[in-house]
Parts: sequence; C-alpha cells; structure tokens
Amino acid sequence: MTQAVDAAIVGTGPNGLAAAVTLARAGLRVELHEAGESIGGGLRGERYFDSDVLHDVCSAVHPMAAASPFFREFDLTPRGVELLAPRIGYAHPLDDGRAGLAHPGLDATCESLGEDGARWRQLMEPLVEHSTGLVDFIMSGQRSLPSDPVAPLLLAARLLPRRLLSGFRGDVAPALLTGVAAHAVGKLPSLSADAVAMLLGHLAHATGWPLPRGGSERIARVMADDIRAHGGSIHTGSRISSLRELGHARAVLLDTTPAQLLTLADGRLPARYARQLRRFRYGPGAAKADFLVSEPVPWTNPDVGRAGTVHLGGSHTAIARQERLAVRGEATDEPFVLLVDPAATDPGRAHKGRRPVWAYAHVPNGDPRDPVALVRSRIERYAPGFGDTVIAARGVSARDYETYNPNYVGGDIGSGAMTLYQSLARPVPRLDPWRTPLPGVFLCSASTPPGPGVHGMCGHLAALSALRHRFGVREAPSLAPSMGPAASGARA
Ligand SMILES: Cc1cc2nc3c(=O)[nH]c(=O)nc-3n(C[C@H](O)[C@H](O)[C@H](O)COP(=O)(O)OP(=O)(O)OC[C@H]3O[C@@H](n4cnc5c(N)ncnc54)[C@H](O)[C@@H]3O)c2cc1C
Repeated sequence: MTQAVDAAIVGTGPNGLAAAVTLARAGLRVELHEAGESIGGGLRGERYFDSDVLHDVCSAVHPMAAASPFFREFDLTPRGVELLAPRIGYAHPLDDGRAGLAHPGLDATCESLGEDGARWRQLMEPLVEHSTGLVDFIMSGQRSLPSDPVAPLLLAARLLPRRLLSGFRGDVAPALLTGVAAHAVGKLPSLSADAVAMLLGHLAHATGWPLPRGGSERIARVMADDIRAHGGSIHTGSRISSLRELGHARAVLLDTTPAQLLTLADGRLPARYARQLRRFRYGPGAAKADFLVSEPVPWTNPDVGRAGTVHLGGSHTAIARQERLAVRGEATDEPFVLLVDPAATDPGRAHKGRRPVWAYAHVPNGDPRDPVALVRSRIERYAPGFGDTVIAARGVSARDYETYNPNYVGGDIGSGAMTLYQSLARPVPRLDPWRTPLPGVFLCSASTPPGPGVHGMCGHLAALSALRHRFGVREAPSLAPSMGPAASGARA
C-alpha cells in the first residue's frame, strides 16, 4: 500500500527541487516523482560522445542561482558547489571583428565601450548598487513589498520611457544590450525584454554570470541531498498521468506547465480556470546543438574566448529581426544563438584535448529542423575554422525538446511566453498564482512567477503558499546548510 505523505511533488527541475527543499525543511514528509531516469530537469548533464566530457543538457550559466533569494539562503558554496566567475561575463562579436564585452567590473566594461561607456554606467550602476533589492522585488513575482523601495523606482525609470537604447552613439553597446534582452525569447523591443535586459545586464556586474564547477547537475545533486537528509524520497522513472495517482498526499505541487495541469486534473478544474489555462501562450522554441571539439572556439576576436556566454546575432537591428521572425513562426537560417564553451571558465570540463560546446538557437515554436548545421554556420561566421575542430555533434529540434521534457511545449524553454502580461499574470491573473482551485494542488514550475531560469523561486513561493493554505504554517523554514531537521520548523 502507498504510504501517506504530506506533499507529493511532480517533477524534479530546479523548481520542483526547491519546492521539496522548502517543504522538507518545514518538517513535512515529501516524495518526488520524476518522469525521466535522472533528476534535475533543466539542470541535467549527459556524457553524449565521450565518457569523460560532460555536456549540460539545458542550463549552463547561472546568474539567477547566484542571486536569487532561495539560493542565497540555501547557499550552494558550503555544500560544495563552486560558482566560477568567467573572466568576461558575456561577449557579443560583430561581423567586422569588434566585440562588446561585459566584464565583471563596471569600470572595465565602460572603458571597453568607449564613448558609450558613460551611458552604460548610467543604466547599470544604480541597479548594481541596489542589486539585492531589485532581485528580491523581481523574484517575488512583484508580489511582496520591496525591501528596498528605491530598486523598483530605478527599474521603472529605465523601462517606462521606452528608450533603453537611446543615448548610445556607437553600435557595439546597443548590440551588447540587445543580446541580453533576447534572453526573454520574444518580440524586441518590448517592456518585458527590457526588464530582462536590466535584470540580467546589471547582474553581470553584481553577482555575475557564473558556471558551476563540474556542470549544472551539481546544483541538482546538492538539492536532492538536502531533501533526502530531511526525510524526503525521490522516485525517478515515475511519470504521473493523473492527480488520482497522488491521493495519498495532502498537497500536490506540479513542476509542470498549465497544459499538463489540464490533463492531470482529468476535467476536475472549474470551467473558468480551465479556460484561462487554455489561453496561456507558449513562446518561440529553442533548438540546441552540442559539439565535442578538439580546441577552444577559434574566435576572430580572441577576447570573446574569455567569456562565459557568447551571443551570436550581430547588430541590434539584426537581432530584433531574428526574434521577430521566431515569434511569427517564420524560420530563418540566421537565428539568434547563445553559446557557452564551459572549459573556458572551468578548465576541468576539458579532457585529453576534447571539450564540450553548448549552443542553442531561437526558432519558431515546434520547428522540426535539426539545428546542427544552422548553429555551426552561425558560429563559423564569428569563428572561421570552428567546423574543423568538431569531433562529434548532436542536435535537438524545438519540436523534439517537448518529447524530452513536456514542460518545453513546442521547444519553449521558458514554459510559457514572457510577454508583459504573462510575466505578471503567470499562468492566470491571481494574487496567489501558485494555488489552483483544486484543494491542495499547486503549480510550482517556471510557468508561474517569477518565470524561467534556475532560481528556484517558483518552487519556493509555491511551497510557501502550500505551507500557508494547506498546513497552516506561516513561518518560512530556514534553508541554510547547517540547519538539521530538528531545528527546521514545526511539523504540521
Ligand atoms: C537549452 C536550454 C538552455 C537553458 N539555459 C539556461 C541557463 O543557462 N540558465 C538558466 O538559468 N536557465 C536556463 N534554461 C532555463 C531553465 O533550464 C528552466 O527555466 C528551468 O529548468 C525551469 O525549471 P522547472 O523546475 O520549472 O522545470 P524543468 O527544469 O523543465 O523540470 C521539469 C521536470 O518535471 C518533469 N516532469 C514533467 N512532467 C512530469 C510528469 N507528468 N511526471 C513526472 N515528471 C514530470 C520533467 O521530466 C522535468 O524533469 C535553459 C533551458 C534550456 C532547455
């Protein structure tokens, strides 16, 4: 007979794990169900071609894990996860060999941007000074009073005039900033993309855009360790098809999209809520290429090789066009591409002259194209000869991403478009969007605020909602590494 538990969590992406950590730390008995054979969702790693060379399957770079309130308290470092700062946070090569470089230090960045350095400083410096307040405000899904009231005002002052790129004279700084805005994977320019540009852009000069030594899977591993240390159990190869399978749990937290909630609920959702979920929109897709290469990427501009992340899209205008086409569902052979050469920051990722290169393109939702040739040619444009270094390659189309992980509907790795409306009302307009109308059922995935990325906050906030509404626990448990179960809060 299945043992009763306090909470069942469906899915072990960073948000499912964060939800489980929070609930287990509150003294609840939790169990996790993961459809895949390994845990981690967007934090998984695989040795695709060589038993020594690890590839990050999804996320590779972690500005949010370095900054988010959940991970600040969970504290990865004493648990053995070393977040390595790249020598250059992100780089943006242009056709003529010039490149925009976001150094960790604001001074170095402004200096490298020449005449546009002053405008870059004007945009970023106040946000860097109020970084914790700004991150806390955005990461709460804008649902808690700001601890630093200046931070949201600074953000509003940058977004509301809708002139983020005005004031730049050259073409390097606008391209550099647009590359960051493109992380919103949607229409450019837009308010939501500008907000993403300000959040991620300033983080490069604050807590950084680090890579975990040894790959993203390390983060999932220590989260799972914490769950088990607090009595939780994790079941892999356990795909949940209906909420009826979880009748033994007082609360159920779904690290899934609204599309899956509709299926799992078997028609039990109130009609109005179900209608709202059906209206939830998914964004453009990602198509990823993994390469095993024999040497560092031969960038025309060698500075680019020192960066943790590289944006390949060219000028501001070119990127806006690429993103517009992806939103419209029109395929282009020149999409926006993000690239990471992890060994440039973490030399241990290279073995015997072989190293991984991670790259994905923004493409139309459901695009069936194998992206390997497409991505390779985008890289070749800024790094001629790259193709000669490739030992092996594999691609995952946007369409196939959904088979790999049902949360990536049509390849939408944000689990829902980050339009302005959906970044605030995610997945439906509610004060507590994590709570569903089904008693004890909560959504905890990136389809809820604050949205995509490895920050754990969707899971953490959903767990706090479950604690309040299902277990009558109002106090947030401590997540700090040294706290044991005895000291971690009352059992409901
Ligand atoms: C190619 C790519 C690159 C990315 N790069 C970055 C990056 O560099 N930095 C960053 O911060 N973010 C990045 N992201 C985004 C980030 O990975 C996601 O936003 C994040 O993983 C979302 O976490 P989640 O817990 O909501 O869902 P997921 O990580 O998608 O996890 C959901 C889990 O639930 C499981 N599941 C779903 N349905 C069921 C079911 N019915 N039964 C049981 N299990 C189920 C899935 O198998 C999966 O393991 C990237 C994503 C991709 C795909």
